[in-house]
Amino acid sequence: MTQKRILITGGAGFLGSHLCDRFINEGYYVIAMDNLITGNIANIEHLFKLPNFEFYHHDVSKYVHVPGQLDYILHFASPASPIDYLQIPIQTLKVGSLGTHNLLGLARAKGARMLIASTSEVYGDPEVHPQVEEYWGNVNPVGPRGCYDEAKRFQEAITMAYHTHHGLETRIVRIFNTYGPRMRLDDGRVLPAFLSQALRGEELSIFGDGSQTRSFCYVDDLIEGIYRLLFSDYPLPVNIGNPDEITIKEFAEEICNLTGVPLNLGYQPLPKDDPQKRRPNISKAKEILGWEPQVSRAEGLRRTLEYFKEKVEVLQS
Ligand code: NAD
Repeated sequence: MTQKRILITGGAGFLGSHLCDRFINEGYYVIAMDNLITGNIANIEHLFKLPNFEFYHHDVSKYVHVPGQLDYILHFASPASPIDYLQIPIQTLKVGSLGTHNLLGLARAKGARMLIASTSEVYGDPEVHPQVEEYWGNVNPVGPRGCYDEAKRFQEAITMAYHTHHGLETRIVRIFNTYGPRMRLDDGRVLPAFLSQALRGEELSIFGDGSQTRSFCYVDDLIEGIYRLLFSDYPLPVNIGNPDEITIKEFAEEICNLTGVPLNLGYQPLPKDDPQKRRPNISKAKEILGWEPQVSRAEGLRRTLEYFKEKVEVLQS
């Protein structure tokens, strides 16, 4: 049997690099494509020596060409944290729209199956809680987060159009907050912010009164869900996330306990359009993929802390 070939865009990023590892371990020929705008080549350096791994330094919003056979495309290229996409809103809109269009064209030309990384942000500031896939969302298109949320909504729409109009094999994963090793310390999201603040002995910054909720999925669980979705026959969006919801204030307390530092909180104004509640309904993932998270927050945070400790030590030395 010939070796299957998979293209992973955003392959040098947090999630993309874990996907590269997974598909290498499964025996695939992996092509990672990334323009390194928010990613880090160090995330995939360990794969460069392998004969079944290739890296293309390329912006997927421009014409994409990959020679030879391609069986699968995972489109994960996109700035993902507010700190990034607020700085580069136009590139964010382009990678979700033009980039997705380019890759759908490539998938069609190669007869490949394509899976896109969508997000819980398509639900905006949700009026339905927990969020089910049938909920259409509450997004402000002209607010600061519109560049990301609407790029992802367009990405879903064009992917479905290629599926229904061209019969392309497509999959859509709606990813909820995910964490783990290889997250950037300074990506502005609450989990790396709290962990690095605690490790530096600084106060933990809480936006608003800390009553807003989040639910965090450990990266290994997410990757397993994506793997199962790719090989399922289900073309509609599927939520993958951990429904274990916690308020930001409780989460700050957990981080202080884990790192052994005294509770020291600083309060700052809530950013505009910050969602108040986030929790996936994962009934579909359970039913269709037989998937549910296996790693508890306590265990996932312990594993992530080890990674963050090393990074903070390097920065401080
Ligand atoms: P990340 O920033 O670590 O990775 C994104 C990667 O895409 C980076 O390596 C970046 O350099 C690359 N990239 C961006 N624009 C590109 C372009 N035009 N051409 C080529 N490469 C480009 O972010 P992540 O957390 O790994 O997120 C990956 C995907 O998952 C994104 O599509 C994001 O929207 C989605 N997602 C992530 C989360 C999460 O919790 N991490 C949640 C929901 C959705």
